[in-house]
Amino acid sequence: MAGIICKHINKKYGELEVVEDFSLEVADQEFIVFLGPSGCGKSTILRMLAGLEDITGGDLLIGGQRMNDAEPGDRGIAMVFQNYALYPHMTIRENIAFGLRRQKTPESEIDQRVGAVTKTLGLKPYLGRKPTALSGGQQQRVAIARAMIKTPDVFLFDEPLSNLDAKLRAHMRVEIARLHKELRTTSVYVTHDQMEAMTLADRIVLLNAGRIEQIGTPEEIYSAPRTLFVAGFIGTPA
Ligand code: ADP
Ligand code: MG
Repeated sequence: MAGIICKHINKKYGELEVVEDFSLEVADQEFIVFLGPSGCGKSTILRMLAGLEDITGGDLLIGGQRMNDAEPGDRGIAMVFQNYALYPHMTIRENIAFGLRRQKTPESEIDQRVGAVTKTLGLKPYLGRKPTALSGGQQQRVAIARAMIKTPDVFLFDEPLSNLDAKLRAHMRVEIARLHKELRTTSVYVTHDQMEAMTLADRIVLLNAGRIEQIGTPEEIYSAPRTLFVAGFIGTPA
C-alpha cells in the first residue's frame, strides 16, 4: 500500500506545456479520479505516474520514495488501459499470468493466484480462450485481473470503460467500486465521464488545459464548484 505525492509536476513537449504545476497528495487507500475534457492532460499525468512519460519538472513520490526516474516495473504500480492491451495470441490464463511468469513465480503459486483473481472477477470459465472470443466487458475484466494479480501498491486506470456500451459501463463501475472496497488499493482513475467520477471517487481532481481547476469530494465539486469551468463541466450531460 502506498500514497502518492506530486509536487509542482510539469510536462512539456518541446515548447508546448501540457501539464502545469500539478500538485496533489493521494492518501494510502484513496480512490482519486482525474476528470476533465479530452486533451486536458489526464493521460499524460497518469503516464508520468506510471513511468511511461518523463517528468520535465517537479517531484513524484510513491510510498515515500522519489520515483521521477524509476523504471515502470520498479514503481509498485499496475495500469489498466482503455483498449485492454491484451496479448491476442495468448489464452486468458496466459495473459493474466504473464507478469508473474516474467518474475519467475513458481507455477503452483501462479495457479493459486490466477484461481483467486479469476474467481473474484467471474472469469474462470474463460481461462482457455483467446481474447477475441470474449466480449469487451470480459476483456476489460481480464485486463483488471492481470493488474490485480501483481498485487500492486497503486492501480492506475486510463478510461477503462470508455469502449463499453452504457449498460456494461454502469455494471463495471459498480464492480470496480466493489473491488476497491475489498482491496483498498490506492487508485488513480482517469475519465471524462462525470457519472464514473461521482460514483467512484473519494476525491475528484478536475482538470482543464493542463491545470487543476478544483480538488474535492464529489459532493463538494457538485454543490460548490469553485470556477465557472467546473460549474459548466459538471452541469453538462456527458
Ligand atoms: P487527455 O488524456 O486528458 O485527453 P492527454 O494527456 O492525452 O489528454 O493530452 C494532453 C495534451 O498533450 C493534448 O493537447 C495532446 O495533444 C498533447 N500531447 C499528448 N501526447 C503528446 C505527444 N507525445 N507529443 C505532443 N503532444 C502530446
Ligand atoms: Mg486520455
